[in-house]
Amino acid sequence: MAGEVLVVAEQTGGAVKRASLEAMTLGARVAGELGSGVAALVAGEGAEAAAGPLGAHGAAQVVTVAVDTADPNAWAHAVAEVATSRGATLVLLAHTARGKDLGPRIAGLLQAGMASDCVDLSVDGGRVVAKRPIYAGKALVTVTGAGESLVASVRPNAMRPEEAAAAGEVVTAQAAAPAQGLGAVLLEIMAAAHKKLELTEADVIVSGGRGLKGPEHFDMIEALAKELGAAVGASRAVVDAGWRPHSDQVGQTGKTVSPQLYFAIAISGAIQHLAGMRTSKYIVAINKDPEAPIFKLADYGIVGDAFEVVPALTEAVKKLKAATV
Ligand SMILES: Cc1cc2nc3c(=O)[nH]c(=O)nc-3n(C[C@H](O)[C@H](O)[C@H](O)COP(=O)(O)OP(=O)(O)OC[C@H]3O[C@@H](n4cnc5c(N)ncnc54)[C@H](O)[C@@H]3O)c2cc1C
Repeated sequence: MAGEVLVVAEQTGGAVKRASLEAMTLGARVAGELGSGVAALVAGEGAEAAAGPLGAHGAAQVVTVAVDTADPNAWAHAVAEVATSRGATLVLLAHTARGKDLGPRIAGLLQAGMASDCVDLSVDGGRVVAKRPIYAGKALVTVTGAGESLVASVRPNAMRPEEAAAAGEVVTAQAAAPAQGLGAVLLEIMAAAHKKLELTEADVIVSGGRGLKGPEHFDMIEALAKELGAAVGASRAVVDAGWRPHSDQVGQTGKTVSPQLYFAIAISGAIQHLAGMRTSKYIVAINKDPEAPIFKLADYGIVGDAFEVVPALTEAVKKLKAATV
């Protein structure tokens, strides 16, 4: 029988990140195919409360560790210790900022292979095979670890979190943080002043580009996003100009998103932007240039002036919502 599948989950105050529940769902499916056990690992305040949702998404056991989660080095050592003691051969994480930081550290400590930003995992001849985008998302490649163990991070929104039967049993593990090499100590967690919908977890994203001509015109992007319950994204040109924060940037050097619906408004569709959003289920492009490259990828395209199209679209959504209440 293959070793255990261990899913490293992120939580705040017992609320598990949706991307971690997606990784949990995938981990449970792969464990089923391998015929192996599946557990989740959580740390930080509220870790025990996270056992419910993790169990409901397939974790047979939920391991809590007392480790300062602000420091990736401490976290990685704790995960590696738990993975080794439990005989885990597949460690899964969500491909979030935290997951990107942790994954390679854990792989290094376990001397395991690392597959980043996977959109699916399967089992072939008893080995775990990961599918991941390459060449800025232009192709998909399947990879596997050279050795017995693999660490894989899962692209947020690449799959839906699915509930399983029972709640997980909580097991508290003794995993000590290393005494040396700590780079950061968690003093306090401060909630953001405005709760923003997380780009990587949003089902709908409305992104604006340089064609909007100034930061003030993002008001109309925000208005459309509000009607659609969407998160707001941006191209790098907009972020470089200081119109939007870097946390809004979608693309190769920004966030990778996979929503159900992605609006690219006044965005040309440079390959570096496409790298971050090409796996969106439906793409709607609004651009006044009929030759804009974004139209090659878009499922729906509107050739027109964003300053006319976007307010009209917002009004139409408003009317539709009013009519369906
Ligand atoms: C190493 C590297 C990494 C990069 N990483 C990223 C990244 O992560 N994300 C990213 O986005 N880019 C990235 N870029 C930059 C990328 O190459 C493009 O420069 C950038 O995406 C362009 O942004 P844009 O489409 O908003 O602007 P532009 O290319 O200037 O396009 C503006 C578009 O708006 C349209 N437009 C103008 N006025 C209107 C109007 N009134 N109504 C409708 N449409 C209108 C125009 O027709 C045009 O298509 C990277 C580049 C490099 C070299």
